[in-house]
Amino acid sequence: MGLDIVIVGSGLAGLAAGAFLRKQHTITILEKSKLDFQQNDYGISVIANAYSLLQKAGIDDTQLDMAVMTKLWQRTAGNEEIVTADFDTRKTFGAPSVLTKRSHLQRELYRLATSAALKGQPAEIIENIKVKSVDANTGMVNTSDGRSFSGDLLIGADGINSVVRAAVLSSDGKSACEALATSHDLLAYMAQIPLSALASSPSLSFLADPETSAGLVNFSSPRGRTDKLRILGYHTSPREFQLVGYASEEEFAAQFDQFGTSIIKGVPASRAKHALSEFDSAITDLYDHHRSGDGTVEVWGIRDLDPLPRWSLGKTLLIGDSCHAVTPHAGQGCNIAFEDAEALGVVLEDVNSDMEIESALEKFLKIRKERAEFVANGSRHMGALLGPEAGPFDEGAKQALEQLEGTA
Ligand SMILES: Cc1cc2nc3c(=O)[nH]c(=O)nc-3n(C[C@H](O)[C@H](O)[C@H](O)COP(=O)(O)OP(=O)(O)OC[C@H]3O[C@@H](n4cnc5c(N)ncnc54)[C@H](O)[C@@H]3O)c2cc1C
Repeated sequence: MGLDIVIVGSGLAGLAAGAFLRKQHTITILEKSKLDFQQNDYGISVIANAYSLLQKAGIDDTQLDMAVMTKLWQRTAGNEEIVTADFDTRKTFGAPSVLTKRSHLQRELYRLATSAALKGQPAEIIENIKVKSVDANTGMVNTSDGRSFSGDLLIGADGINSVVRAAVLSSDGKSACEALATSHDLLAYMAQIPLSALASSPSLSFLADPETSAGLVNFSSPRGRTDKLRILGYHTSPREFQLVGYASEEEFAAQFDQFGTSIIKGVPASRAKHALSEFDSAITDLYDHHRSGDGTVEVWGIRDLDPLPRWSLGKTLLIGDSCHAVTPHAGQGCNIAFEDAEALGVVLEDVNSDMEIESALEKFLKIRKERAEFVANGSRHMGALLGPEAGPFDEGAKQALEQLEGTA
Protein backbone atom coordinates (compact mmCIF):
# COMPACT_ATOMS: atom_id res chain seq x y z
CA MET A 1 0.00 0.00 0.00
CA GLY A 2 1.10 3.59 -0.54
CA LEU A 3 3.52 5.01 -3.09
CA ASP A 4 7.31 4.93 -3.34
CA ILE A 5 8.33 8.58 -3.38
CA VAL A 6 11.85 9.90 -3.99
CA ILE A 7 12.54 13.47 -2.82
CA VAL A 8 15.64 15.40 -3.95
CA GLY A 9 16.81 17.75 -1.17
CA SER A 10 16.38 17.70 2.59
CA GLY A 11 15.98 21.45 3.09
CA LEU A 12 12.82 22.85 4.64
CA ALA A 13 10.54 21.83 1.73
CA GLY A 14 11.93 18.29 1.33
CA LEU A 15 11.78 17.46 5.04
CA ALA A 16 8.31 18.98 5.43
CA ALA A 17 7.11 16.88 2.48
CA GLY A 18 8.64 13.82 4.16
CA ALA A 19 6.79 14.70 7.38
CA PHE A 20 3.40 15.07 5.67
CA LEU A 21 3.75 12.08 3.31
CA ARG A 22 5.32 9.40 5.54
CA LYS A 23 2.04 8.46 7.22
CA GLN A 24 1.03 6.52 4.15
CA HIS A 25 3.90 6.40 1.69
CA THR A 26 7.50 5.15 1.58
CA ILE A 27 9.85 8.11 1.40
CA THR A 28 13.52 8.28 0.33
CA ILE A 29 15.24 11.67 0.52
CA LEU A 30 18.53 12.30 -1.33
CA GLU A 31 20.65 15.14 0.10
CA LYS A 32 23.92 16.37 -1.37
CA SER A 33 25.35 17.68 1.95
CA LYS A 34 25.94 16.28 5.39
CA LEU A 35 23.12 17.69 7.53
CA ASP A 36 24.61 19.73 10.34
CA PHE A 37 21.69 22.13 11.04
CA GLN A 38 24.11 25.01 11.68
CA GLN A 39 25.85 26.03 8.49
CA ASN A 40 24.83 29.45 7.16
CA ASP A 41 22.07 29.68 9.71
CA TYR A 42 19.71 32.66 9.68
CA GLY A 43 16.55 33.97 11.30
CA ILE A 44 13.29 33.03 9.72
CA SER A 45 9.65 33.93 10.28
CA VAL A 46 6.96 31.28 10.14
CA ILE A 47 3.68 33.11 9.84
CA ALA A 48 0.38 31.69 11.13
CA ASN A 49 -0.67 30.38 7.69
CA ALA A 50 2.25 27.93 7.75
CA TYR A 51 2.79 27.54 11.48
CA SER A 52 -0.73 26.17 11.94
CA LEU A 53 0.19 23.44 9.40
CA LEU A 54 3.37 22.58 11.30
CA GLN A 55 1.33 22.36 14.49
CA LYS A 56 -0.91 19.87 12.70
CA ALA A 57 2.21 17.83 11.82
CA GLY A 58 3.25 17.82 15.49
CA ILE A 59 5.99 20.47 15.69
CA ASP A 60 7.36 20.94 19.21
CA ASP A 61 7.47 24.68 20.09
CA THR A 62 9.94 24.06 22.86
CA GLN A 63 12.62 22.96 20.37
CA LEU A 64 12.56 26.19 18.36
CA ASP A 65 14.05 28.67 20.86
CA MET A 66 11.55 31.05 19.31
CA ALA A 67 10.04 34.47 19.89
CA VAL A 68 6.32 34.92 19.18
CA MET A 69 5.64 37.86 16.89
CA THR A 70 3.34 40.53 18.30
CA LYS A 71 4.39 43.76 16.57
CA LEU A 72 5.15 45.25 13.16
CA TRP A 73 6.94 48.57 12.95
CA GLN A 74 7.22 50.75 9.88
CA ARG A 75 9.84 53.48 10.34
CA THR A 76 11.70 55.99 8.22
CA ALA A 77 15.40 55.69 7.42
CA GLY A 78 15.90 58.23 10.20
CA ASN A 79 14.10 55.90 12.65
CA GLU A 80 10.95 58.04 12.95
CA GLU A 81 7.74 56.14 13.51
CA ILE A 82 5.34 55.72 10.58
CA VAL A 83 3.12 52.90 11.86
CA THR A 84 3.34 50.58 14.85
CA ALA A 85 0.80 47.78 14.56
CA ASP A 86 -0.19 44.87 16.74
CA PHE A 87 0.46 41.61 14.95
CA ASP A 88 -0.53 38.81 17.28
CA THR A 89 -1.96 36.11 15.03
CA ARG A 90 -2.87 33.95 18.02
CA LYS A 91 -5.77 36.37 18.44
CA THR A 92 -6.62 36.95 14.77
CA PHE A 93 -5.86 33.58 13.12
CA GLY A 94 -5.72 31.11 16.02
CA ALA A 95 -2.03 30.28 15.57
CA PRO A 96 1.14 32.17 16.45
CA SER A 97 3.56 33.66 13.95
CA VAL A 98 6.99 32.71 15.16
CA LEU A 99 10.53 34.02 14.75
CA THR A 100 13.21 31.37 14.97
CA LYS A 101 16.34 30.09 13.18
CA ARG A 102 16.38 27.95 10.07
CA SER A 103 18.53 25.36 11.91
CA HIS A 104 15.91 24.80 14.63
CA LEU A 105 13.13 24.44 12.10
CA GLN A 106 15.15 22.02 9.99
CA ARG A 107 16.01 19.89 13.02
CA GLU A 108 12.34 19.68 14.04
CA LEU A 109 11.27 18.80 10.48
CA TYR A 110 13.98 16.12 10.40
CA ARG A 111 12.43 14.64 13.56
CA LEU A 112 8.93 14.77 12.07
CA ALA A 113 10.14 13.05 8.90
CA THR A 114 12.30 10.36 10.50
CA SER A 115 11.22 9.63 14.09
CA ALA A 116 10.25 6.01 14.66
CA ALA A 117 7.84 7.21 17.36
CA LEU A 118 5.52 8.91 14.83
CA LYS A 119 2.84 7.42 12.62
CA GLY A 120 3.91 5.70 9.40
CA GLN A 121 7.28 4.61 8.15
CA PRO A 122 10.22 6.92 8.93
CA ALA A 123 11.62 8.59 5.82
CA GLU A 124 15.05 7.32 4.81
CA ILE A 125 17.49 10.19 4.32
CA ILE A 126 20.64 9.47 2.34
CA GLU A 127 23.21 12.25 2.92
CA ASN A 128 26.28 13.22 0.89
CA ILE A 129 24.69 12.08 -2.33
CA LYS A 130 24.33 14.58 -5.13
CA VAL A 131 21.76 14.17 -7.86
CA LYS A 132 23.73 14.67 -11.09
CA SER A 133 21.10 14.04 -13.73
CA VAL A 134 17.34 13.73 -13.94
CA ASP A 135 14.84 12.24 -16.35
CA ALA A 136 11.59 13.93 -15.38
CA ASN A 137 9.40 11.75 -17.61
CA THR A 138 10.45 8.51 -15.92
CA GLY A 139 11.24 10.09 -12.52
CA MET A 140 14.71 8.52 -12.58
CA VAL A 141 17.75 10.28 -11.06
CA ASN A 142 21.45 9.40 -11.23
CA THR A 143 23.66 10.30 -8.30
CA SER A 144 27.28 11.24 -7.68
CA ASP A 145 28.12 7.76 -6.34
CA GLY A 146 26.94 6.06 -9.55
CA ARG A 147 23.56 4.91 -8.27
CA SER A 148 20.08 5.43 -9.76
CA PHE A 149 16.85 6.05 -7.89
CA SER A 150 13.26 6.08 -9.06
CA GLY A 151 9.81 5.54 -7.60
CA ASP A 152 6.17 6.17 -8.37
CA LEU A 153 6.82 9.88 -7.95
CA LEU A 154 9.94 12.10 -7.95
CA ILE A 155 9.74 15.36 -6.00
CA GLY A 156 12.27 18.11 -6.69
CA ALA A 157 12.87 20.01 -3.43
CA ASP A 158 16.43 20.94 -4.33
CA GLY A 159 16.21 24.68 -3.84
CA ILE A 160 16.67 27.71 -6.04
CA ASN A 161 19.40 26.28 -8.33
CA SER A 162 17.47 23.08 -8.95
CA VAL A 163 18.70 20.35 -11.27
CA VAL A 164 15.21 18.81 -11.16
CA ARG A 165 13.69 22.11 -12.38
CA ALA A 166 16.13 22.13 -15.30
CA ALA A 167 14.80 18.69 -16.33
CA VAL A 168 11.12 19.59 -15.85
CA LEU A 169 11.56 22.68 -18.04
CA SER A 170 13.71 21.11 -20.74
CA SER A 171 12.23 20.05 -24.06
CA ASP A 172 13.12 16.35 -23.62
CA GLY A 173 12.57 16.25 -19.83
CA LYS A 174 16.25 15.51 -19.15
CA SER A 175 18.99 17.55 -17.54
CA ALA A 176 22.40 17.21 -15.97
CA CYS A 177 22.94 20.82 -14.90
CA GLU A 178 21.42 23.27 -12.43
CA ALA A 179 18.85 25.86 -13.51
CA LEU A 180 19.57 29.55 -12.98
CA ALA A 181 17.59 32.02 -10.88
CA THR A 182 16.61 35.66 -11.53
CA SER A 183 18.90 38.43 -10.30
CA HIS A 184 17.65 41.89 -9.30
CA ASP A 185 21.03 43.52 -8.57
CA LEU A 186 20.13 43.04 -4.92
CA LEU A 187 22.09 41.79 -1.94
CA ALA A 188 21.56 41.75 1.79
CA TYR A 189 24.11 42.80 4.41
CA MET A 190 23.34 40.28 7.16
CA ALA A 191 24.18 40.50 10.85
CA GLN A 192 22.97 38.62 13.90
CA ILE A 193 23.28 40.69 17.02
CA PRO A 194 22.53 40.27 20.74
CA LEU A 195 19.48 42.12 22.09
CA SER A 196 21.81 43.81 24.58
CA ALA A 197 23.12 45.91 21.65
CA LEU A 198 19.58 47.21 21.08
CA ALA A 199 18.96 47.77 24.78
CA SER A 200 21.99 50.04 25.04
CA SER A 201 20.86 52.22 22.12
CA PRO A 202 18.24 54.76 23.36
CA SER A 203 16.52 55.11 19.98
CA LEU A 204 16.31 51.35 19.39
CA SER A 205 15.58 50.08 22.88
CA PHE A 206 11.88 49.75 21.91
CA LEU A 207 13.01 46.52 20.16
CA ALA A 208 14.89 45.09 23.10
CA ASP A 209 12.22 43.23 25.06
CA PRO A 210 11.11 40.09 23.20
CA GLU A 211 8.50 39.32 25.85
CA THR A 212 6.47 42.44 25.05
CA SER A 213 7.64 43.33 21.56
CA ALA A 214 8.97 40.56 19.35
CA GLY A 215 8.41 41.37 15.73
CA LEU A 216 9.63 42.87 12.56
CA VAL A 217 10.76 46.41 11.82
CA ASN A 218 11.14 47.90 8.36
CA PHE A 219 13.27 51.04 7.98
CA SER A 220 12.16 52.30 4.59
CA SER A 221 14.29 53.69 1.82
CA PRO A 222 15.55 57.24 2.29
CA ARG A 223 15.27 57.61 -1.51
CA GLY A 224 11.51 57.15 -1.68
CA ARG A 225 9.08 54.34 -1.51
CA THR A 226 9.89 52.78 -4.87
CA ASP A 227 13.61 52.42 -4.13
CA LYS A 228 14.96 49.02 -3.11
CA LEU A 229 17.33 50.25 -0.39
CA ARG A 230 15.87 49.31 3.03
CA ILE A 231 16.79 47.66 6.32
CA LEU A 232 14.67 44.93 7.84
CA GLY A 233 15.18 43.72 11.39
CA TYR A 234 13.54 40.98 13.40
CA HIS A 235 13.99 38.86 16.50
CA THR A 236 15.33 35.35 15.91
CA SER A 237 15.17 34.06 19.50
CA PRO A 238 14.46 35.56 22.94
CA ARG A 239 18.08 36.84 22.92
CA GLU A 240 18.95 37.76 19.34
CA PHE A 241 18.00 40.04 16.49
CA GLN A 242 18.82 39.91 12.77
CA LEU A 243 19.51 42.77 10.40
CA VAL A 244 18.95 42.41 6.67
CA GLY A 245 20.12 45.53 4.85
CA TYR A 246 19.14 45.51 1.18
CA ALA A 247 21.39 47.34 -1.28
CA SER A 248 22.82 47.08 -4.78
CA GLU A 249 25.31 44.22 -5.45
CA GLU A 250 28.08 46.49 -6.76
CA GLU A 251 31.46 44.71 -6.80
CA PHE A 252 30.05 41.67 -4.99
CA ALA A 253 28.16 40.64 -8.16
CA ALA A 254 31.45 39.53 -9.73
CA GLN A 255 32.44 37.64 -6.57
CA PHE A 256 29.12 35.75 -6.44
CA ASP A 257 29.79 34.64 -10.03
CA GLN A 258 33.51 33.94 -9.54
CA PHE A 259 33.07 31.76 -6.45
CA GLY A 260 29.74 30.22 -7.50
CA THR A 261 28.25 31.13 -4.14
CA SER A 262 25.44 33.32 -2.85
CA ILE A 263 27.12 34.02 0.51
CA ILE A 264 30.34 35.96 1.14
CA LYS A 265 31.62 36.04 4.72
CA GLY A 266 34.25 38.20 6.36
CA VAL A 267 33.11 41.50 4.80
CA PRO A 268 34.13 44.47 7.00
CA ALA A 269 31.15 45.93 8.88
CA SER A 270 32.28 49.35 7.62
CA ARG A 271 31.34 48.21 4.09
CA ALA A 272 27.73 47.57 5.22
CA LYS A 273 27.65 50.90 7.05
CA HIS A 274 28.93 52.71 3.98
CA ALA A 275 26.37 51.07 1.65
CA LEU A 276 23.58 51.94 4.10
CA SER A 277 24.94 55.32 5.17
CA GLU A 278 21.68 57.12 4.34
CA PHE A 279 20.08 55.42 7.36
CA ASP A 280 20.33 56.68 10.95
CA SER A 281 23.77 55.66 12.24
CA ALA A 282 22.20 54.18 15.39
CA ILE A 283 20.71 51.52 13.09
CA THR A 284 23.79 50.87 10.95
CA ASP A 285 26.14 50.85 13.97
CA LEU A 286 24.43 47.59 14.92
CA TYR A 287 26.53 45.93 12.20
CA ASP A 288 29.52 46.28 14.57
CA HIS A 289 27.83 43.75 16.87
CA HIS A 290 27.54 40.82 14.43
CA ARG A 291 28.19 37.53 16.18
CA SER A 292 31.41 36.89 14.19
CA GLY A 293 32.99 39.16 16.83
CA ASP A 294 35.76 40.27 14.44
CA GLY A 295 34.14 43.35 12.93
CA THR A 296 32.91 41.53 9.84
CA VAL A 297 29.45 40.74 8.47
CA GLU A 298 28.00 38.54 5.73
CA VAL A 299 26.76 39.48 2.31
CA TRP A 300 24.02 37.37 0.73
CA GLY A 301 23.05 37.58 -2.94
CA ILE A 302 19.28 37.72 -3.27
CA ARG A 303 17.62 35.85 -6.16
CA ASP A 304 14.15 34.61 -6.98
CA LEU A 305 12.31 32.98 -9.87
CA ASP A 306 10.03 34.32 -12.57
CA PRO A 307 6.78 32.34 -12.85
CA LEU A 308 7.53 28.98 -14.50
CA PRO A 309 5.58 27.58 -17.44
CA ARG A 310 5.13 24.33 -15.50
CA TRP A 311 5.95 22.68 -12.17
CA SER A 312 5.57 19.08 -13.25
CA LEU A 313 6.40 16.74 -16.08
CA GLY A 314 5.84 12.99 -16.36
CA LYS A 315 6.54 11.42 -12.98
CA THR A 316 8.14 14.54 -11.50
CA LEU A 317 6.84 17.45 -9.42
CA LEU A 318 8.65 20.53 -8.08
CA ILE A 319 8.00 22.10 -4.66
CA GLY A 320 9.54 24.85 -2.49
CA ASP A 321 12.26 27.16 -3.78
CA SER A 322 12.87 24.85 -6.74
CA CYS A 323 9.69 26.22 -8.37
CA HIS A 324 8.80 29.40 -6.47
CA ALA A 325 11.88 30.90 -4.80
CA VAL A 326 10.87 34.35 -3.55
CA THR A 327 12.88 37.28 -2.25
CA PRO A 328 12.86 37.45 1.58
CA HIS A 329 10.90 40.74 1.73
CA ALA A 330 7.54 39.12 2.51
CA GLY A 331 9.08 36.49 4.84
CA GLN A 332 7.04 33.82 3.03
CA GLY A 333 9.61 31.56 1.30
CA CYS A 334 9.48 28.63 3.67
CA ASN A 335 5.85 29.38 4.53
CA ILE A 336 4.71 28.61 1.01
CA ALA A 337 7.02 25.56 0.95
CA PHE A 338 5.20 24.26 4.05
CA GLU A 339 1.87 24.93 2.35
CA ASP A 340 3.11 22.86 -0.64
CA ALA A 341 4.11 19.98 1.65
CA GLU A 342 0.79 19.90 3.47
CA ALA A 343 -1.21 20.20 0.25
CA LEU A 344 0.76 17.29 -1.21
CA GLY A 345 -0.09 15.21 1.87
CA VAL A 346 -3.78 15.99 1.29
CA VAL A 347 -3.95 15.30 -2.47
CA LEU A 348 -1.93 12.06 -2.15
CA GLU A 349 -3.97 10.79 0.78
CA ASP A 350 -5.44 7.41 -0.19
CA VAL A 351 -3.55 7.42 -3.49
CA ASN A 352 -2.07 3.95 -3.79
CA SER A 353 -1.36 3.42 -7.47
CA ASP A 354 0.49 5.00 -10.32
CA MET A 355 -2.78 5.56 -12.18
CA GLU A 356 -4.15 7.98 -9.58
CA ILE A 357 -1.07 10.23 -9.35
CA GLU A 358 -1.76 12.38 -12.41
CA SER A 359 -5.13 13.65 -11.21
CA ALA A 360 -3.76 14.18 -7.68
CA LEU A 361 -0.96 16.35 -9.11
CA GLU A 362 -3.46 18.32 -11.18
CA LYS A 363 -5.33 19.14 -7.97
CA PHE A 364 -2.06 20.13 -6.31
CA LEU A 365 -1.09 22.48 -9.14
CA LYS A 366 -4.52 24.06 -9.14
CA ILE A 367 -4.30 24.86 -5.43
CA ARG A 368 -0.66 25.88 -5.32
CA LYS A 369 0.75 27.47 -8.47
CA GLU A 370 -1.32 30.64 -8.67
CA ARG A 371 -1.04 31.22 -4.93
CA ALA A 372 2.76 30.87 -4.84
CA GLU A 373 3.15 33.17 -7.84
CA PHE A 374 0.93 35.73 -6.12
CA VAL A 375 3.19 35.63 -3.05
CA ALA A 376 6.37 35.88 -5.16
CA ASN A 377 5.03 38.91 -7.00
CA GLY A 378 3.92 40.49 -3.70
CA SER A 379 7.41 39.97 -2.31
CA ARG A 380 8.97 41.72 -5.33
CA HIS A 381 6.45 44.52 -4.87
CA MET A 382 7.35 44.90 -1.18
CA GLY A 383 11.02 45.07 -2.14
CA ALA A 384 10.34 47.70 -4.83
CA LEU A 385 11.73 45.34 -7.48
CA LEU A 386 8.91 45.77 -10.01
CA GLY A 387 9.93 49.24 -11.15
CA PRO A 388 8.27 52.61 -10.46
CA GLU A 389 5.27 51.83 -12.68
CA ALA A 390 4.15 49.20 -10.13
CA GLY A 391 3.55 51.93 -7.57
CA PRO A 392 4.49 51.84 -3.90
CA PHE A 393 3.67 48.74 -1.86
CA ASP A 394 4.09 50.47 1.48
CA GLU A 395 0.96 52.58 1.01
CA GLY A 396 -1.11 49.42 0.49
CA ALA A 397 0.49 47.80 3.54
CA LYS A 398 -0.18 50.90 5.59
CA GLN A 399 -3.84 50.91 4.60
CA ALA A 400 -4.14 47.18 5.39
CA LEU A 401 -2.62 47.72 8.81
CA GLU A 402 -4.94 50.64 9.47
CA GLN A 403 -7.92 48.51 8.50
CA LEU A 404 -6.70 45.76 10.84
CA GLU A 405 -6.51 48.31 13.63
CA GLY A 406 -9.90 49.79 12.73
CA THR A 407 -8.41 53.26 12.19
CA ALA A 408 -8.93 53.58 8.43
C1 LIG B 1 18.20 35.91 4.07
C2 LIG B 1 16.98 35.07 3.94
C3 LIG B 1 15.92 35.25 4.83
C4 LIG B 1 14.77 34.48 4.69
N1 LIG B 1 13.77 34.69 5.56
C5 LIG B 1 12.65 33.97 5.45
C6 LIG B 1 11.59 34.18 6.36
O1 LIG B 1 11.67 35.00 7.28
N2 LIG B 1 10.47 33.42 6.21
C7 LIG B 1 10.35 32.50 5.21
O2 LIG B 1 9.30 31.87 5.11
N3 LIG B 1 11.35 32.28 4.31
C8 LIG B 1 12.49 32.99 4.41
N4 LIG B 1 13.50 32.78 3.55
C9 LIG B 1 13.33 31.80 2.45
C10 LIG B 1 13.45 30.35 2.91
O3 LIG B 1 14.64 30.16 3.61
C11 LIG B 1 13.41 29.42 1.70
O4 LIG B 1 12.25 29.70 0.95
C12 LIG B 1 13.38 27.97 2.11
O5 LIG B 1 14.52 27.63 2.86
C13 LIG B 1 13.32 27.07 0.89
O6 LIG B 1 13.39 25.73 1.25
P1 LIG B 1 13.72 24.61 0.16
O7 LIG B 1 13.74 23.33 0.92
O8 LIG B 1 12.80 24.75 -1.00
O9 LIG B 1 15.18 24.95 -0.37
P2 LIG B 1 16.56 24.83 0.42
O10 LIG B 1 16.37 25.17 1.84
O11 LIG B 1 17.55 25.58 -0.39
O12 LIG B 1 16.92 23.27 0.37
C14 LIG B 1 17.34 22.62 -0.81
C15 LIG B 1 18.08 21.36 -0.37
O13 LIG B 1 18.38 20.59 -1.53
C16 LIG B 1 19.73 20.15 -1.46
N5 LIG B 1 20.18 19.96 -2.84
C17 LIG B 1 20.37 20.93 -3.78
N6 LIG B 1 20.78 20.38 -4.94
C18 LIG B 1 20.85 19.03 -4.73
C19 LIG B 1 21.23 17.94 -5.54
N7 LIG B 1 21.60 18.11 -6.83
N8 LIG B 1 21.20 16.71 -5.01
C20 LIG B 1 20.82 16.50 -3.70
N9 LIG B 1 20.47 17.53 -2.89
C21 LIG B 1 20.47 18.76 -3.39
C22 LIG B 1 20.45 21.28 -0.73
O14 LIG B 1 21.67 20.85 -0.16
C23 LIG B 1 19.40 21.67 0.32
O15 LIG B 1 19.52 20.89 1.49
C24 LIG B 1 14.67 33.51 3.66
C25 LIG B 1 15.73 33.31 2.78
C26 LIG B 1 16.88 34.09 2.92
C27 LIG B 1 18.02 33.85 1.97
